[in-house]
This record gives sequence, C-alpha cells and structure tokens, in this order.
Amino acid sequence: MAYDFDLYVIGAGSGGVRAARFAAGFGAKVAVAESRYLGGTCVNVGCVPKKLLVYGAHFAEDFEQASGFGWNLGEADFDWATLIANKDREINRLNGIYRNLLVNSGVTLHEAHAKIVGPHEVEVNGERFSAKNILIATGGWPQIPEIPGREHAIGSNEAFFLKELPKRVLVVGGGYIAVEFAGIFHGLGASTTLLYRGDLFLRGFDGSVRKHLQEELTKRGLDLQFNADIARIDKQADGSLKATLKDGRELEADCIFYATGRRPMLDNLGLENTDVQLTDKGFIKVDEQYQTSEPSILALGDVIGRVQLTPVALAEGMAVARRLFKPEQYRPVDYKMIPTAVFSLPNIGTVGLTEEEAREAGHDVVVFESRFRPMKLTLTDCQEKTLMKLVVDGKTDKVLGCHMVGPDAGEIVQGLAIALKAGATKRDFDDTIGVHPTAAEEFVTMRTPVGA
Ligand code: FAD
Ligand code: NDP
Repeated sequence: MAYDFDLYVIGAGSGGVRAARFAAGFGAKVAVAESRYLGGTCVNVGCVPKKLLVYGAHFAEDFEQASGFGWNLGEADFDWATLIANKDREINRLNGIYRNLLVNSGVTLHEAHAKIVGPHEVEVNGERFSAKNILIATGGWPQIPEIPGREHAIGSNEAFFLKELPKRVLVVGGGYIAVEFAGIFHGLGASTTLLYRGDLFLRGFDGSVRKHLQEELTKRGLDLQFNADIARIDKQADGSLKATLKDGRELEADCIFYATGRRPMLDNLGLENTDVQLTDKGFIKVDEQYQTSEPSILALGDVIGRVQLTPVALAEGMAVARRLFKPEQYRPVDYKMIPTAVFSLPNIGTVGLTEEEAREAGHDVVVFESRFRPMKLTLTDCQEKTLMKLVVDGKTDKVLGCHMVGPDAGEIVQGLAIALKAGATKRDFDDTIGVHPTAAEEFVTMRTPVGA
C-alpha cells in the first residue's frame, strides 16, 4: 500500500525533531505535527529558559563577591520583566531555528494537534494522513497533586511567564525542578521555602551529594523544610496564599510552585484507536527498539518514562531513525553511565553509580572524597564548599561513579563521563595530569580513600 509518509512524527520536541530530521536525511518521506511550540519542552519551558534564569540568579552572588576583587558596584537592582522579555526573545529565535532545521531537511511540518485515528493514520486539522510508521514523541506535562486549592498553585510551565517575581515563594517537591527553581527564586531575591515530603531531597542521587547540597543551600539562606507536605491552599482576602501543611502548620506565600513530577502527554492522542499499551505508571510501553504493542507505532522520549532528559530523547530519536531507515547503522541506546546535572546553585554534576547503588550491587566499594573552598572564593567572605567524590571498585580499580557539587559541575562531569564510559580505573585518574589551578584537577589528585 502507498502511504502519504514513511514516518509521521507527533511532537516536535527534542526526540521528535531528531528522529524526523535524521529519517528525512536517510531519504524517508517524513511529516511532523506540533501543537504548541517548536523545540518542545526543552526549548520552550525546560532546559533552555531554565538555564537562562539560573544564569540570571547567579549574578546575585557574583555581585556580592566582586568587592573582594576590588569592584564596587553599588546597590544591585534586578528587573524580572527584562529577564523574561529577553528570555522570550531568545526562545523565539530558537523556535525559528527549529522550523528551519525541519523544513530545510525536507520534513513536512504541520503546526497543529495530531490525533491517531488508526495504526497507520493521523488526523490533523480535520485532514487525514497515512503513514507506514507513526512515532509518538509527545513528551510530558507537570503533574500537580489533587489537593483542595490546587488551582491557586502553578507548575513549571507557568513559572517561566510570571508577570512579576513573587516576594514569597513556596516550592513543593524534591527533584530536579524543585531544587533548580528554589535556587532561581532565591537567587533573584524572593524569600523562598522548599517543602519536600521525605527526609532529604534528590532521592536517587548520592547521599554525600544530597547532604552537601542541603548544607550549602541552608548556608545561603534558603529555607529547606523536609517531611513537609501541603494539605490545602487557600486564597486570602489580600490575594496572598495560605498553605496548610499536613502537620497543621500554616505558611503564607505569594506563589506556590509545584514540581512534583511529570505525566506523559497523551491528551486527545487517540490511543483508543490503536493497540498501544501503557506501563503501570501510565507511560507508553515500548520494547528495546521503541516499538509499542501496535507494530506500526513507535514512541520515545518523556512519553515512555524511562529517563526524562533531552540528550536521552535525542539518542532515542537517532536510534529510531536508524532502525527504520538505516538499519546497518543502528546502535541501541546505552542507558548506563548517563551523565546529568542539576542546575541548582551550586550545581550538581554526576555520572555512574552512587555509593549506595555500588554497595547494593555488591561492589567492594572504595570512596574518595574531597571538600574544599574554591580558589575564587578565597578573596571573598563566601564560605561555600565544593564536594567531589569518586566511587571505585576496590577489586577491579574501575571508577564506578563521579559526583560533584560546586560551580560548573555539569561542565566538569561531561568530560569525566567519557572516561567512565571508556572504563577508566582509579589508576588512570591518578596517572592523568591535572590542569592547574582548577577545581576539576581535584578529581585526579584524590589519593586517600575516605575512612582509610
Ligand atoms: P518534549 O520536548 O516535551 O516534546 C513533545 C512535543 O510534543 C511538545 O512540543 C508538545 O507540544 C508536542 N505534542 C504533544 N502532544 C501533541 C499532539 N497530540 N500533537 C502535536 N504535538 C503534540 N532535560 C535535560 O536534559 N536538561 C535540563 O536541564 C532539563 N531541564 C528541564 C527543566 C524543566 C523545567 C523541564 C520541565 C524539563 C527539563 N528537562 C531537562 C527535561 C527535558 O525537557 C525533556 O526530557 C525533553 O524535552 C523530552 O523530550 P521529548 O521529545 O520526549 O518531549
Ligand atoms: P522528579 O521526578 O525529579 O521529582 C519529583 C519530586 O516530587 C520528587 O521529590 C517526589 O518525591 C516529589 N513528589 C512526587 N509526587 C508528590 C506528591 N504527590 N506530593 C509531594 N511531593 C511529590 O520530577 P521533576 O518534576 O522535578 O522533573 C521531571 C523530570 O524532568 C526529572 O526527573 C528530570 O528527568 C527532568 N529534568 C531534568 C533536569 C536537568 O537535567 N537538569 C531539570 C529539570 C527536569 P519522592 O522523591 O518522595 O518521590
């Protein structure tokens, strides 16, 4: 049967765009539908605008520290509206780049919602298109718990477009987004409280990293409240919000921001017209090659709920394009050793196993840890400490994990990820000559195991 397209991609986010462009490059006839914004979450309400706001927030400490180096700047004055307008301009520019990338690679772009109406058929703007394969790359959406007064809370989508910087913010959650936005609001001058339901935020990260970040954020004056959860939110006569916690305490705020995870975006997608099945958590179920239970339909990225990171969606997009249209070049995505950063202030950078995971997996674990005051701070009053940690297998000498809390941790860990992926041993680290004077050289100069 002749189809309108070889591949119909639903969603022009990180994974969808990558799959579409490469599939078209391999000679396939490809269409993409995008209902909201080109570039998806990462470009519009995720990684990119978030990082711009983190840069914005970081200036506060730069200004504070500048006087130690002889710079006297007077009173700093921050204007939220300028930051948001400049951020919006940059995002508009990126949207245009994404449009050009798609169109110039020969992809047909439908800027509208797409609904699947059969295993090989998609409906867009009342028009139907057939495709040999359909790729679902529809991403995710913030999930806010159903509590009374939920309508007064915002999620990350709204946070990027607030008209003004709230004076008092409650951030709910203990994952990436909560920790990053708590840093943004606090850095930009809002009085910020982070509420997390468990004992310590960033579950799944290395224990030393979690503890170290807790200490550093507390030193900076961020109010961290663990074992705290909101039972209800009420709007008060003066427009402010009152959060009543499950333990009965009441907190007032101008903005309550939930970062409590993301659900798959399946709204009006038409899955009922297919045999596509979901996992027990509600994400789209796929096999190792991203095929759903409906043989002609594939899915990738946040909507499959494996690892919700842009570079992972990109790698999956590439794998799908190759699998369908360049099978001789197909390589499965390797989900081990995925480096990641949390752009909290200070940053976390991490790759490989945490100490806890390494012990759990039965390794004979040797830990190297270093905590130090970065050189840049020696002329300032700032008492921030950087943490670097290596988790090593005592039997094989292989470095199993690298973890850092400190300036530019993400930048530093990217390079280390290559070493770990290549199977570097602690001896390789020791034999590597440092770059002096840097913070990163500490990773190749740690000689004595913790507790030894
Ligand atoms: P998305 O990028 O979400 O794209 C899905 C697209 O599909 C969207 O554009 C949507 O509008 C469209 N769509 C949905 N349904 C339909 C339909 N029926 N028809 C047509 N179009 C549809 N990851 C990192 O690696 N680093 C970071 O620093 C980082 N920061 C983040 C910060 C925040 C606040 C958030 C929310 C996420 C962040 N992420 C980060 C995660 C990252 O953004 C996602 O993992 C990534 O965008 C997933 O890509 P995707 O292609 O699966 O989906
Ligand atoms: P996460 O899954 O990282 O964290 C969700 C947090 O919310 C957890 O601390 C969780 O607690 C808590 N939580 C979940 N449900 C509730 C509830 N009902 N009430 C109270 N607390 C709750 O999700 P995020 O929203 O922070 O981010 C989504 C994903 O986006 C991340 O996992 C990450 O993959 C990606 N991302 C990546 C970034 C980066 O690379 N820098 C930045 C931002 C996002 P508990 O731990 O107890 O379950």
